[in-house]
Amino acid sequence: GLLKRVSVIGSGNWGSAIAKIVGMNVLENPDMFDPEVYMYVYEEVVNGRKLTDIINTEHENVKYLPDIQIPANVVAVPDVIKASSNADILIFVLPHQFVFDTCVKMKSAIKKAALGVSLIKGFILSEGEGIQLVSRVISQTLDINTAVLMGANLATEVASEMFCETTIAVEKPEYDSILKRLFETSYFRCKIIRNVSAVEACGALKNVVGIGAGIVDGLGFGDNTKAAVIRLGLMEMMKFTKVFLEYLDLRPPEDNSIFFESCGIADLVATCHGGRNRLLGEAVVKSMKKRGMPGVDIRLLEKEILRGQSFQGPLIAKEIYSYLKDKNMVDQFPLLVAVHRICSREVDPRNFIDCLREHPEHL
Ligand code: NAD
Ligand code: 13P
Repeated sequence: GLLKRVSVIGSGNWGSAIAKIVGMNVLENPDMFDPEVYMYVYEEVVNGRKLTDIINTEHENVKYLPDIQIPANVVAVPDVIKASSNADILIFVLPHQFVFDTCVKMKSAIKKAALGVSLIKGFILSEGEGIQLVSRVISQTLDINTAVLMGANLATEVASEMFCETTIAVEKPEYDSILKRLFETSYFRCKIIRNVSAVEACGALKNVVGIGAGIVDGLGFGDNTKAAVIRLGLMEMMKFTKVFLEYLDLRPPEDNSIFFESCGIADLVATCHGGRNRLLGEAVVKSMKKRGMPGVDIRLLEKEILRGQSFQGPLIAKEIYSYLKDKNMVDQFPLLVAVHRICSREVDPRNFIDCLREHPEHL
């Protein structure tokens, strides 16, 4: 038919929050969208019941986004092929380490003309091939166009309808109006720009800086120090985006304006104050003080603090580090590198500030 079918691939904290928005917007735009939205759920048993059954009867993702009603036209589907095969718009919102395998499973089933929209913040590291943008991996694996949506969008706040902004980047302007109608609400304002890869790089990089902000909190430093970490982090994000996109033969941003969009400074500030990655940075310092360096275990902290959700920052820091090491640029990105070394227990978190004292920004 002429109505566009929408699927959400992923149903964690952010996946469930965006399913609420999209589920409502398809109903409000019946001339454009099919009213039924499939949401792919990685099946698990919660309180003795299948999570898909809970979502389809209670209309709530009790594990990943408790206390928020998901519209009843959003249908939880445990089979990714069923969830994706009829979709005209595929919204990808999985932790980035699962996206490639998920795309491979969907590959033979999806519509040729589907549009992908990635909400995923991270890079894909493949042995011997270096790192790649998630949207490109989606585009190349599925042979579809892929837009991105990134911004200062802490999922629980969005789900509670607290006002915020986001950045949507799509190469072809023909998709602008459909994307606005799909995502925008009175409390979730969408600005559309063109540079997909730069917007996406921002979204991935800020998670690492967020860990740095948490380390500052854990060490008991104040707001000036956190502001310095945010600023130095932003400088490294800008520089990394430029060199990385040039390396990928993609168009680097013409000026710095994208860093002043929601996907840039706003997401960075939100994550450095209220993000899960900030929590992790703080927890690493505390657990180091309690148990010593060998006692710092990121996976354990993830289980204890997030109970099923995931910290993307440590993995992203590792992805960035592998690129920088490969390109002999480790010295130019002291903050991003220090966070990686702390997460991988090579550096004591108490030395974090020392790693920043001789920052290229100060020379
Ligand atoms: P989450 O942290 O809640 O992750 C848990 C999800 O991963 C669950 O749905 C779980 O079922 C799923 N999962 C576990 N193992 C899996 C597997 N093997 N295959 C497929 N799925 C599996 O997820 P999230 O918060 O929705 O994050 C998804 C993406 O959105 C990430 O890139 C994140 O950076 C980004 N993001 C998150 C927020 C936020 O506030 N949570 C905001 C903006 C962007
Ligand atoms: P965290 O994963 O650190 O919570 O950040 C969420 C986010 O991306 C907000 O835009």
